[in-house]
Amino acid sequence: MNQKLFELLRAKLKSPENLILDLSDKEKYFHDATDHNGTPLAIVMAETESDITETILFCKSNNINIVPRGAGTGLSGGCVPIENSVLLSTELIDYINIDPIKNRAVCGPGVITKDLVDMAANFDLTYPPDPASYDESTLAGNVAENAGGLRCKKYGVTRDYILGLKAIDQNGKIIKTGCYNNYKGFNLTDIFIGSEGTLVIIAEISVQLIDLPKIGNTILATFNNPEGCANSVFSIVRSGLIPTVMEFLDSDAAACSNEYEK
Ligand SMILES: Cc1cc2nc3c(=O)[nH]c(=O)nc-3n(C[C@H](O)[C@H](O)[C@H](O)COP(=O)(O)OP(=O)(O)OC[C@H]3O[C@@H](n4cnc5c(N)ncnc54)[C@H](O)[C@@H]3O)c2cc1C
Repeated sequence: MNQKLFELLRAKLKSPENLILDLSDKEKYFHDATDHNGTPLAIVMAETESDITETILFCKSNNINIVPRGAGTGLSGGCVPIENSVLLSTELIDYINIDPIKNRAVCGPGVITKDLVDMAANFDLTYPPDPASYDESTLAGNVAENAGGLRCKKYGVTRDYILGLKAIDQNGKIIKTGCYNNYKGFNLTDIFIGSEGTLVIIAEISVQLIDLPKIGNTILATFNNPEGCANSVFSIVRSGLIPTVMEFLDSDAAACSNEYEK
C-alpha cells in the first residue's frame, strides 16, 4: 500500500500521530490473548467519533479491511489483523458520564470495565458484568463478545445491561440503537452485541447500572467428594437462593492455592 495514500487519512484525524505506519514496536497490536496473529497495514488510534468515520470512509474508498480493537484481551481472535487491513483501536475513547438519577452511564467504547465499576461505586451503583479480564478489557470488547463472568448466574451478562449503542457502519453512517433511538424500529442492539467487530464499529455505549449490593456474606463449606458438592449446588439453586458466585475447589486446586499463598 502506498504510504503517501495514508497521509490523506492522517490529515483527517484529530491528531496526526493517531495514524501509526511504523509498526516496529507495535507487536502487541498483532494479536489478542490467543496464539493467532497478523500484521495490519497501519494502526489508527481513534480519539473521536470522527476519527472512526474518517477511517471507515478512507478504507472503503481504498478497498482496505478494518479490524476493530479494544484492549486485545479477546479469546476468539476477533481483533487479530487480517490481510490488507487497518487496525482501528477505540481504546483512547474512554469517557464515562454517570447519571445517578436514572442509574445509567454513557461510555466511550474504550472505557476499561473496572473503571466504570469503580466510578459507579462513588454513586452507590454498580455495573455487574464481570469477565475475569475486567481490569483490562474495554466495554466495546465486552459488548462485541457479549462477555459474562462469575456473577452471571445472579446478574446476567453484558447483553442484559446495554441500553443502546451508537455505532458506525461500513458507509460511515451513524446507527443509533435502543435508548439512542427511543427504542423505535428493529432491535439492532441485540444484533450488534456479540457480533465480534464484524458489523459495525461501536462508538458509544449506554449501560444500565444497579444499586451496589450492601450486604455480602461468604460461606466456606467442605465436602467429602465432588458429588456431595454438586448436590448442594442443586439444592441451593432449587431452593430459590441465587448466590452471587459459587466456586468449587477440588483438593488439587486447594493445594495449588495454598502453595501460591506461601
Ligand atoms: C484473562 C482473561 C479472562 C477472561 N475472562 C472472561 C470471562 O470471565 N468471561 C468472558 O465472557 N470472557 C472472558 N474473557 C474474554 C473476554 O471476552 C475479553 O477479555 C473481553 O470481552 C474483550 O475485550 P477487549 O477490549 O480486550 O476486546 P478485544 O480483544 O480488543 O476485541 C474483542 C472483539 O471486540 C471487537 N471490538 C473491540 N472494540 C470494538 C469496537 N469499538 N467496535 C466494534 N467491535 C469492537 C474486536 O473486533 C473483537 O472482535 C477473558 C479473557 C482473558 C484474557
